[in-house]
Amino acid sequence: MTYNPDLLDKAKRHPEKQKNPDRPAGRKPDWLRVKAPQGKVYQDTKALVRKQKLTTVCEEAGCPNIGECWEKQHATFMIMGEVCTRACAFCNVATGKPEELDKLEPLRVGVAVKQMGLNHVVITSVDRDDLPDSGADHFVKTIQAIRMKAPKTTIEILPGDFRGNQDDWDTVIAARPDVFNHNLETVPRLYPTIRPGARYFRSLSLLARVKAVDPSQFTKSGLMVGLGETIEEVGQVMDDMRAADIDFITIGQYLQPTPKHAPVERWITPEEFEKLTRMAKNKGFLMVSATPLTRSSHHAGEDFEKLKAAREAKLTKLAAE
Ligand code: SF4
Repeated sequence: MTYNPDLLDKAKRHPEKQKNPDRPAGRKPDWLRVKAPQGKVYQDTKALVRKQKLTTVCEEAGCPNIGECWEKQHATFMIMGEVCTRACAFCNVATGKPEELDKLEPLRVGVAVKQMGLNHVVITSVDRDDLPDSGADHFVKTIQAIRMKAPKTTIEILPGDFRGNQDDWDTVIAARPDVFNHNLETVPRLYPTIRPGARYFRSLSLLARVKAVDPSQFTKSGLMVGLGETIEEVGQVMDDMRAADIDFITIGQYLQPTPKHAPVERWITPEEFEKLTRMAKNKGFLMVSATPLTRSSHHAGEDFEKLKAAREAKLTKLAAE
């Protein structure tokens, strides 16, 4: 697999991973190859992100879809800094002691959303376990700033687990994002090595809580595959997600950011992704996106429209029964 040189340069951002042996992934299969980013709209999106001093997970995570998404002016903003207090084995965001929160950041995000004329925006963040509320209030202020500056834009948030604090969950739920997205990332057996700072059932409980408090919010969660999970384990996660009433599941191939990160155990074929899609649909999700390049925020705007249509169709069918 060819690594993005920018990401390799940033390997020193992961002091905790330098002790890991190099475990480079083999050659990336053809179905994961994408065109290098280019084009005017891509450059304009980049210029605006720089001008507003914003951080995007598209760049921080070295997302393979950046050319396609930015050419459509779709970017996922990452708030609360560039340094995360956790050290997940799959993630290229730097680990360390974060800086103080930038109080003007919510407004800058709101201005950028307005200037870009976005119909739908996705806001994610680093985990801020150093803050008393894990950043819940900053999320709320960002949602409010977007509503003020761009009232027609629909908002999808992709936060961490707020260390399981239910008051913080409720604070963010009460800000009423249109979509509450929180990724389970992998199967529970792999949490201790892949997502050591998180807890599987804590993340599931957060998503279940959103639906219990405000059923009008869509809930969404994503999984990476190719980390060594079995199909039976993925099926069990789908069942758990349905028990938590999650509307939308996304599944994509894990890509290793640097040779120090968790290795790619397997390239999942497009045919296997089709099988995962059928499995998820049979389990009753309102929407399913499972392809090698699916990412949690990929096509989020178009998918939000489809989600709304799918909910209406379901309600109409129920009313007719
Ligand atoms: S899929 Fe998400 S993270 Fe990747 S480039 Fe698109 S918006 Fe950014």
